[in-house]
Amino acid sequence: MQTRLADFIRDSAEGREAEAILRKCVHCGFCTATCPTYQVLGDDLDSPRGRIYLMKRALEGAPVTERTRLHLDRCLTCRACETTCPSGVRYGRLVDIGRAVVEARTRRGPLERLSRAALAFGLPRTRLFAAALALGRIARPLLPASLKQKIPPRVEAAPWPPPRHERKMLVLAGCVQPALAPSINAAAARVLDRVGISLIEVPGAGCCGAIRFHLNYQEAGRDDMRALIDAW
Ligand code: SF4
Ligand code: SF4
Repeated sequence: MQTRLADFIRDSAEGREAEAILRKCVHCGFCTATCPTYQVLGDDLDSPRGRIYLMKRALEGAPVTERTRLHLDRCLTCRACETTCPSGVRYGRLVDIGRAVVEARTRRGPLERLSRAALAFGLPRTRLFAAALALGRIARPLLPASLKQKIPPRVEAAPWPPPRHERKMLVLAGCVQPALAPSINAAAARVLDRVGISLIEVPGAGCCGAIRFHLNYQEAGRDDMRALIDAW
């Protein structure tokens, strides 16, 4: 795809990287087959191809609107699209660059900024999130239906087998997962135990950084990643 990046980014490291990625996209749309948001919403602007086009326009200096930002916000950054792209487009890296540009050129309302700041602060803090979730479960009967359905019931994890195998595998406990779905890692531990591998959670590893990075608190996300590397 031909690109002509705007002066504000053309000669930066991010600009050169984004341009190289954009030029690989041939707009074939194969990636739409594995994009969950496109599958659910059916709008090309909520597909990787559409988002790539929106980011290209933003990087070329076209006006950026709240709708542009909304379509990028809806991206889960799951990178499933990369698995079906015949051209090897590094969508995940492009969306990191594109989000930072779009964020800098738009302004969110005060409520949205507050809720995003609260998410960036609270979600990576495992104990704080667990306490907030516990309070939410207590208050659940009093909440309106729209909020009620967002609070999942408590799930008890089945026993985690003791470490007894020579072969070991490390796993992250994660930030929200211990409170929301503790059964996931425990189930993986039991499956691996059956095939002779002991699964061990890395103590004190905390959040992998994705939450804050993808909320566009990129420096804070990098701090989480550095702490994670040290813990590993
Ligand atoms: S599959 Fe790859 S080349 Fe085709 S539209 Fe999607 S990102 Fe672009
Ligand atoms: S990262 Fe996931 S949600 Fe975002 S465009 Fe790719 S497949 Fe879709």
